Amino acid sequence: MTAPVPRDNAGNKVGQVDATVVPRFAGAPTFARLPRRDEVARADIAVVGIPFDAGVSYRPGARFGPGHIRESSRLLRPYNPAQDAMPFALAQVVDAGDLGVNPFDIAQAISQIEVGMDELIADGTKVVTLGGDHTIAYPILKSLHKKHGPIAVIHFDAHLDTWDTYFGAPLTHGTPFRRASEDGYLDLTGCLHVGIRGPLYSDTDLSDDTALGFQVLRATDADDLGIDEMIARMLARVGDRPVYVSIDVDVMDPAFTPGTGTPEAGGLSSREMLRLVRSLDGVNLVGADIVEVAPAYDHAEITGIAAAHLLYELITVLARRFG
Ligand code: MN
Ligand code: MN
Repeated sequence: MTAPVPRDNAGNKVGQVDATVVPRFAGAPTFARLPRRDEVARADIAVVGIPFDAGVSYRPGARFGPGHIRESSRLLRPYNPAQDAMPFALAQVVDAGDLGVNPFDIAQAISQIEVGMDELIADGTKVVTLGGDHTIAYPILKSLHKKHGPIAVIHFDAHLDTWDTYFGAPLTHGTPFRRASEDGYLDLTGCLHVGIRGPLYSDTDLSDDTALGFQVLRATDADDLGIDEMIARMLARVGDRPVYVSIDVDVMDPAFTPGTGTPEAGGLSSREMLRLVRSLDGVNLVGADIVEVAPAYDHAEITGIAAAHLLYELITVLARRFG
């Protein structure tokens, strides 16, 4: 049987499997039922999984995040009305599978991720990563820095992730942005956190964070400032710099993302997050990730669906730059 997907003149698949012919619950769960990287001649945007969670400090399980997000992405349809765009027609979007990284040796995993990213971005492909725990942002930023120079990071998270060490370990899911800042990968005039809340170890956590190059928009700013003002401050902070977007799903309230490793009460809603991500249209995005989806704590794919829809908005923002 001929696969019912759009094909280019060379016979390569180019779009989603046609859901009017093969139902959404059938077939292989590539992200949004898009073609695999090896099924097309070229790619503008690649979704890649990094099933690594050896850097977590509390609930484990984000190594199963990529597969869970893909499974939760089967309902994504071709037209995005919120952005009035057909993302998978504007750009060739593919699923590049998972990077195979060492689950026992964090340092080796980090160098494997760096090499994997170097290969994926070498021809100009924009890469969107499915985590995995937040440790993976460090080698991704290392790779992107080699190509783009200092990066402005928009970091959506309940947590700062600029702590120094845990149990003496410098590379964990609570430390990637401190290491990236120390190593010179970040534009210290262009980074910010969005959605910060919850208890800290000390008030020096915040002063350290400022010195490392980050401004903070708190979760409570959604009420105090409103989402429009948050968007204005976020866009003003990054300007026209090369921007990396890192979304820890615990930025959302546990009501919207129960399936994550270090949940904190009082987070953003998925509707607020979708709006914040859509506002990035026009930003010079060089890459993005969504991390910390831990399916063992998810119910009814609540977290997976939130992650898949945020990725859809991110991919649409990226695809419009190719359209
Ligand atoms: Mn977090
Ligand atoms: Mn995080």
